[in-house]
Amino acid sequence: MGKLAAKSALVTGSSRGIGRATAIRLAREGALVAVHYTTNANAAYEVVTSIERDGGRAFAVQAELGVPGDVHQLFLGLEQGLKERTGSTTLHILVNNAGVMSGNTAPEKTTPEAFDRLMAVNAKAPFFIIQRALANMPEGGRIINISTGLTRFANPHEIAYAMSKGAVEMMALHFAKHLGPRNITINSVAPGITRNDNPVFDIPDVVNQMARLSTFNRVGEPADVADVVAFLASDDARWITGSFVDASGGSLLG
Ligand code: NDP
Repeated sequence: MGKLAAKSALVTGSSRGIGRATAIRLAREGALVAVHYTTNANAAYEVVTSIERDGGRAFAVQAELGVPGDVHQLFLGLEQGLKERTGSTTLHILVNNAGVMSGNTAPEKTTPEAFDRLMAVNAKAPFFIIQRALANMPEGGRIINISTGLTRFANPHEIAYAMSKGAVEMMALHFAKHLGPRNITINSVAPGITRNDNPVFDIPDVVNQMARLSTFNRVGEPADVADVVAFLASDDARWITGSFVDASGGSLLG
C-alpha cells in the first residue's frame, strides 16, 4: 500500500512540468489527485489518463488563478470531484505549484501590470487557496508551496518574480505557527532550473550552461522536485514545518 493511500490531494498547475510530475508521484503513492490547469485541458486530461493507466485515481479541475473569483471556481470543481469519488470534500494535501515567471525582464522594463500579475498568480492566489482549503483540511494535513532558488540566488532579470516567491516563503513561516495545533504542516520547496516545456530545454548549449549551476552538472528533472514534495506530503515528514527545502541540486552552494 502507498504512503498516501486514502488521502486526497490538489496540485495546482499540474497539466505540465513540476506539477504534472508531482500529481503522478502523489497518485503513485495512492492519493486521489485533483489535476488543476488553466488553459491546457488536453494536457491535464493526459495526466489524468496516465495516472489511471497506472492504477491511480485522478480528475481534472479548471480555474484561472490570479483573477477575481479564482479560488471560488477552483473549489467548485475540486469539491464536486472529491464528493463524487469519496463522498466527502476532505482535502488532505495541497500543493501550490502553479506559477508564472517574469520572462527574463530587465528591472527597468518591468511594468506595473506585469508586476501585479506575478503577485496575483504566485503569491495572492496561494494565500487565498490555503485560506479556503483549511475549511476542508483535517488534522495531519499537508501544505507544500513551490518557491524558487531565486530567493537566495541573485538574478536582476527576475526581481519581481523572486519577490513574489519571497512572499510564498513567508506563508510557510507564519502559517506553520498558526497550523501547528491542528497538526498541519506547511513548507516551501525551492527548485533550481528544472526542465519544462520551455523551448530553451531543446538547445543543448543552453542546457549545458544551465547544468553548470548545479553541483551535479545537470538541469533538474520535474521528478527530482516531485519526490521531495511527496516526502513532505507523507507522514514521514510530520516533524518538518515552516521550513525552506532547497531542491535545487546544489545550485545555491555558491
Ligand atoms: P510550467 O510553466 O511547466 O507549468 C505551469 C503550470 O501552472 C501549468 O500547469 C499552467 O497551466 C499553470 N498555470 C500557469 N499560470 C496559471 C494561472 N494564471 N492560473 C492557473 N494555473 C496557471 O511550470 P514549471 O513546472 O516550470 O514550474 C512550476 C512551479 O515551479 C512554478 O511555481 C515555478 O515558479 C516554480 N519553479 C520552476 C522552476 C523551473 O526551472 N522550471 C525553477 C524554480 C521554481 P496551463 O498548462 O493550463 O497553462
